[in-house]
Amino acid sequence: MSQPQSAWIDDTRQRSAFRRRLLAWYRKHRRDLPWRRRDDPYAVWLSEVMLQQTRVETARGYFERFLERFPTLTDLAVADEEDVLKAWEGLGYYSRARNLHRAARTVVEDHGGALPDTYEGLIGLPGVGPYTAAAVSSIAFDRPHPALDGNVMRVFSRLLRIEADPRRTSTRADMVRAGEALMPRSGAGDLNQALMELGARVCAPAQPRCTDCPVADWCRALAELEDPSVLPMRPVRKQRPHLQVTAGIIRRAGKVLIAKRPPGGMLAGLWEFPGGKQEPGESLADCLRREIHEELEITIDVEEEVASVEHEYTHLSITLHAFAARYRSGRARAVGCSAFEWIDADHLSDFPIPRADHLVLEALGASGTSLQNLINRE
Ligand code: SF4
Repeated sequence: MSQPQSAWIDDTRQRSAFRRRLLAWYRKHRRDLPWRRRDDPYAVWLSEVMLQQTRVETARGYFERFLERFPTLTDLAVADEEDVLKAWEGLGYYSRARNLHRAARTVVEDHGGALPDTYEGLIGLPGVGPYTAAAVSSIAFDRPHPALDGNVMRVFSRLLRIEADPRRTSTRADMVRAGEALMPRSGAGDLNQALMELGARVCAPAQPRCTDCPVADWCRALAELEDPSVLPMRPVRKQRPHLQVTAGIIRRAGKVLIAKRPPGGMLAGLWEFPGGKQEPGESLADCLRREIHEELEITIDVEEEVASVEHEYTHLSITLHAFAARYRSGRARAVGCSAFEWIDADHLSDFPIPRADHLVLEALGASGTSLQNLINRE
């Protein structure tokens, strides 16, 4: 894909007029969001990390609670990873939290506790990619870097009529060039946020509200296509695999067994009811017995299925079958997990646990059972 052929983006006066119109709209319509009220680079960074893969309305509450728990970057740096994961619990994509934590430690150790104030300094931190570095450097430090999130890429695809997959490196490079041309000498953060806001509230994926759009005069998709929403080009989605997964609510002497997921994999560091995925030809009960033996070297008696929930991850979806089970024999060792504990039912809330396990607890409640009831069985 060559550089976008949109004459106005090459014209200084047109770019100024575009910025003026967009920023006037933004000042009037911007949402009052908690991270916009704080003049603190750490808070800007946190909000940008939270908002990746998470809706604004969901992120709001998490953002405020996270800052109450870890008010400064140094507080975050010295925290235990498990406390950080607990504060993140329910937001998903836990590698974001682990990277944020690692990056906070790097900032304290290598930068005296002050977040680097340049794109280049930020992108050297764990988990900080081009988007986050551009967003934080522009919003917190007024550096002129275009922040291309999904909303902004959609807006650019339509404004400039870019008919190539925005996930391709060359398409993205075209958009970066267009964004750089648009950046003002000062106020880059506001311009980036205005573009994001436009994408989130007006230039929506399926039904853009072009009649309310402040920059409709500059939009090639509106002028030249019957339906601007055909852009950006959407790649054909591959079908996600669907797995059958078991989990054991394993009791012993009034306690329940939970295991910590190993480092490096999916949901690393979270605690769960142990189990794993079903192999071809295996019954669910056999799967659970095998998984527990492989993970902890104990044998169990599997009883009835007490809950079955559906959950989706980025690359796969699962049906999680939870079974009541009783410890039978063996000395537990953390072979396929990084730790395990026998806990009282009411201590489960002290541990960060994945969303799917929360769904199991909700399903138990809905069926009139409780974790405590299952543990109290003979
Ligand atoms: Fe999006 Fe319509 Fe505005 Fe173009 S005119 S940027 S398609 S809302």
